[in-house]
Amino acid sequence: MMTKTTMLAVPLTRCDPPLEVQLDTALAAGAELVELRVDQIGDADAVARLLETRPTGRFVLTVRGRDEGGAWDGDDAERIALIERLGLLTPGYVDVELATWRRSANLRQKVGLVCRRTDHPADADERRKNKLILSMHDFSGIPDDLEARFAELAETPAAVVKIAVAAGDACDALRVLDLLHRHAAAHPVIALGMGEGGLLTRVLARKFGAFLSFAALQAGGESAPGQPTIEDMRNLYGWDRIAPPTRVFGVIGWPVSHSRSPHVHNAAMQAAGIDGVYVPAPVRPTYEAFAAFMDGVEARPWLDASGFSVTIPHKEHALLWLEQRGGEISPLTRGCGAVNTLVRTPHGWRGENTDGAAALAALSDALGWSGDARPEGLVEVLGAGGAARAVAAALRECGAAVVVTNRTPERAERLAAELGCGVRPWEQRAAADVDAIIQCTRVGMTPDAAESPVPAERLRPDLIVLDTVYTPRQTRLLREARERGATTIDGGEMFLRQAAAQFRLWHGRDPDAAVMRAALGPD
Ligand code: NAP
Repeated sequence: MMTKTTMLAVPLTRCDPPLEVQLDTALAAGAELVELRVDQIGDADAVARLLETRPTGRFVLTVRGRDEGGAWDGDDAERIALIERLGLLTPGYVDVELATWRRSANLRQKVGLVCRRTDHPADADERRKNKLILSMHDFSGIPDDLEARFAELAETPAAVVKIAVAAGDACDALRVLDLLHRHAAAHPVIALGMGEGGLLTRVLARKFGAFLSFAALQAGGESAPGQPTIEDMRNLYGWDRIAPPTRVFGVIGWPVSHSRSPHVHNAAMQAAGIDGVYVPAPVRPTYEAFAAFMDGVEARPWLDASGFSVTIPHKEHALLWLEQRGGEISPLTRGCGAVNTLVRTPHGWRGENTDGAAALAALSDALGWSGDARPEGLVEVLGAGGAARAVAAALRECGAAVVVTNRTPERAERLAAELGCGVRPWEQRAAADVDAIIQCTRVGMTPDAAESPVPAERLRPDLIVLDTVYTPRQTRLLREARERGATTIDGGEMFLRQAAAQFRLWHGRDPDAAVMRAALGPD
């Protein structure tokens, strides 16, 4: 049997506000199933009242034991009695851990009274009963024998099998998606990666025909780590539009949870009617992890991965990976030494960098330049990381005079030598002969928003200051520069332009700039 479309299930984990109110809110928000986590709700009578008064048949009844991440600490006999009592009210589904099912013949017998025997679907009494979900949870990581554990579940009489494992990063998530890819067409399967690393599995569950995916009613209402809210699932990730052909885009970084790229790209794709979804892909901060993720993506053509944004700390890793795997690299990108965009072409992956041109475009639009006008005078780039390289390369490409300064001088010297820029000691940043500063360090970025990389007394009315930091958009540097009469441009302007350029690379057309701006959010 195959599930037609993956259901969105909201867990209820507390009894205040009243369960009836939470149920109505969940259904109004688009929940197709509601899981009653009796172990977390802690009030079996309130659950019984709900099942008696609201017999929707769209409930999953769960009394999860502590050994598999739940809050139930009573004994098996009590739990069995509870499942029998509430199961007789026909919630629709009953979830029991495989380990509990195995260890207790009494539980199997009692669950058999309230759950349908899958081999007797035509019997009217049987049809009125619940369906059994047998589940397995591993909070320590992805077991090496994941496939064997799935096979164990699949051999049971369960109507639906569920595996939930801790996903440390997006590489782990790919292994969970393998289960859905291999088995969801033949068997109702729930396969989820828990934690931030598993978000991919929760959002893409619908692409691969999982039985359900969970989404919390609101932040703080999660029944397991990493559940998005139902609001995010439907509005940010466009859950209702995800289908087997949906192409996959995302942002690779560590961390990535703060990124606004999913908001901006999903909104722009939705507005353009493009069948795609854009998801965060947290990948541990080493080259080996980056290469493992991209090799994993390459080995799974059924993922339909079509493009990635690459952010801290993987921009240089992406370039190295392309070099090692024979990928395509545009000359400007090679000059930057960093890749912020990966584009899937019919021949493989191509690396691009949209950061530098975006910084120039933000400058040019803010200052009202036209055509090929370029920055006059001396432009100082603060920093020597990925963003600084891209900005310096774009400035040099258009013939601007550039001087680089960085906390670690060797990095500035190397960058300056490669791109033909001047170099200055960090202590001499924002000297009197500098006409424009493009701030490309991480200083001033949340959570260090109280910091500024430039002493306020060096800021002057005739300076132009572009801060590439965009979380927050109004940094301390920009505030102090404005207070001293300088012309300022915030990192959001650059961010929107680099995102628009990525959109053009992936989709071959312009995005709706107003939609992207609205999705980025207020200053
Ligand atoms: P990166 O490669 O890790 O480089 C970080 C840079 O920040 C290095 O030059 C580093 O200096 C410097 N730095 C870090 N902490 C510092 C401190 N306490 N004092 C002085 N310098 C410090 O990062 P990246 O990818 O280039 O990103 C840098 C910034 O650009 C981030 O804030 C990012 O959000 C922003 N960015 C914005 C956009 C946009 O569209 N608006 C696009 C790309 C990047 P050392 O070499 O001494 O470590």
